[in-house]
Amino acid sequence: MLNWQQEYLDKQGPSLPASVEGFAKKVKPLYRLSEREMAAYAVLNRIDYIVEECPMSKGAKMLLYKEVLNRLEIESPGTKQRFYWGFLEQQARTTPASTSMAEKDQAVLHPCTTCGQPTTAEVCGYCKMMARATAKR
Ligand SMILES: [Zn+2]
Repeated sequence: MLNWQQEYLDKQGPSLPASVEGFAKKVKPLYRLSEREMAAYAVLNRIDYIVEECPMSKGAKMLLYKEVLNRLEIESPGTKQRFYWGFLEQQARTTPASTSMAEKDQAVLHPCTTCGQPTTAEVCGYCKMMARATAKR
């Protein structure tokens, strides 16, 4: 949202349709829960999870944004939830039926030549990152 990447924002939601034939619909059933709530659930149910940030994300702007949002949350509890839910409400008002988004995606998404996951490039971001990590070894 800081960079107003509208195409990226359009694809951020709890339910995304199968945009290309052969690709599954994506659903985020726990989207209303906070990271802290999910961690508490995992601890109470003895579900092991990874606490550390991805080592490949070092220096990523996303970590800075996360830190700033967490600071806002400490100073003004509920800020993150209001921000996210407000985003979803705004998105629902401005985004027409999901079918039009699926139609728009069909023109740009295709399977990654390495792993087969949907991507706009020849090779997806994950496979590019794995290739860089392998080359560094
Ligand atoms: Zn890939």
